[in-house]
Amino acid sequence: MTVTADCSGATVIVIPQPTVNGPLHVGHLSGPFLAADIAARAARARGERIITLAGVDVHPNFVTTKAANMGLDVHEMVARYRAQIAAAFSLGRIGHDVFIDPEQDSFCEAVNRMLGELLDRGAIRMQPMTLHRCSDCGRTMQHSYVVGKCPNCGSGANGLSCEPCGGFTSAATLIQPNCARCGGEPEPMEVTVPVLRLEDYRAQLIAEWTQAELPPRVRRVLSHYLTAPLPDYPVAYPMDWGIEGTGALAGLRIDFPAELGLSYLYGPARLVDPAANGIDACVAAWRQLAGLWHFNGIDNAFYFGILYPAVFAAAGLTEPKMTGATVNELYLLEGSKFSSSRNHALWADEFLAEHDPELVRLYLSWCRPDRYESNFSRQSFDAFCQWARPLLGGEATASEHRSERQRAQSGASAEPSNGGGQDQGCWIPEEMAADDLERAEHALRLNSFDSSLAVRCLFGALSAGQGRQSAVLAALTGRPAG
Ligand SMILES: [Zn+2]
Ligand SMILES: [Zn+2]
Repeated sequence: MTVTADCSGATVIVIPQPTVNGPLHVGHLSGPFLAADIAARAARARGERIITLAGVDVHPNFVTTKAANMGLDVHEMVARYRAQIAAAFSLGRIGHDVFIDPEQDSFCEAVNRMLGELLDRGAIRMQPMTLHRCSDCGRTMQHSYVVGKCPNCGSGANGLSCEPCGGFTSAATLIQPNCARCGGEPEPMEVTVPVLRLEDYRAQLIAEWTQAELPPRVRRVLSHYLTAPLPDYPVAYPMDWGIEGTGALAGLRIDFPAELGLSYLYGPARLVDPAANGIDACVAAWRQLAGLWHFNGIDNAFYFGILYPAVFAAAGLTEPKMTGATVNELYLLEGSKFSSSRNHALWADEFLAEHDPELVRLYLSWCRPDRYESNFSRQSFDAFCQWARPLLGGEATASEHRSERQRAQSGASAEPSNGGGQDQGCWIPEEMAADDLERAEHALRLNSFDSSLAVRCLFGALSAGQGRQSAVLAALTGRPAG
């Protein structure tokens, strides 16, 4: 095995793979995507070894549900949304070292091979299990195909997780489950499927939870399982979407969160050892790496806190590899939830094409929904740009000049004619600028990530004439490090 020197001891930062059931909107950007990129750039500037993992997620059945709802051919829809997601990553300067492409045959074969090996070793077992299908349309009621009420908090939820409380949900645990596709009633379905018995890995999971740097909200989701049994988790089952199983899994489709767990084993391993294929080679490569740091929404806590570490443990990685997680809350648009079905959204690729990506990154960092639901407002964004641009020493983009001129012509603007900040002066004493820059650097560390604080401290320093060449400014804006 050839170990790439730069990878040895590296931390893998996971930029979550967005489901291709829509383009990224500005709310997505404000959550895990920009934060992961900023944290990775800042860590590299400190001299830390970092691998960034990104990708897209094609296999959740949310994709087929969206295509059916919109009357689109699913493959055309996937291609369109993939292109928009790629454009948002590119325009937003969100880079990666490893890209998980689930539409590549080699990836699907690798996932099948790894599952087959886990079955052969008894880490996953074929066993009878009761799943549920719709009594009307016959669909297996997994993920987007089932809705009901969360058993933990009573909120409306699908068969993946509960957005408000972050708890794990399935057709078996939801209260009053119904088919989300046709409204039909669930009926039990006895199937023999490959099962990852999470309870078998309890000791290793507790070791992971004990050493990882996790926010209190994630710990609350995990602590439920200190007393409750960990569920049996089917990693493949009858379904009309997802990677087709081969060998012993023929006729089944692979569960997409299980696929994601395997992608975290496989993707970074291939960077360490480009020939890595199969469980043993991936585990050997992973022994060279320090661990995984997840950026994700709180509603994925069950998956990054339990399922993915259990996949690693089942593969034979006995030492903890979950270094920590940074989570976010919901981001609102003009006071209400982003909704593509109500066309209440700002698409990230379009927004980034119309505005200076540096100002977009800084603004979304400024009001990141890290501790509570925060809000995007157009008025606030425009005011921020007016104020921040002179601090950065930059010029407005052509389209911003245009839109500002149009606003002025329509009489809608009451903005000062001097650009809102050409002569802002210092807003911290010059003697404090170095301290603020130091605080900003600390605010971009993985275990104390607070991009909102970093922007405020940076702007204080910039107003006092310092920080133009700083690693903090480079990380927040995505400029090449100076
Ligand atoms: Zn149905
Ligand atoms: Zn809930």
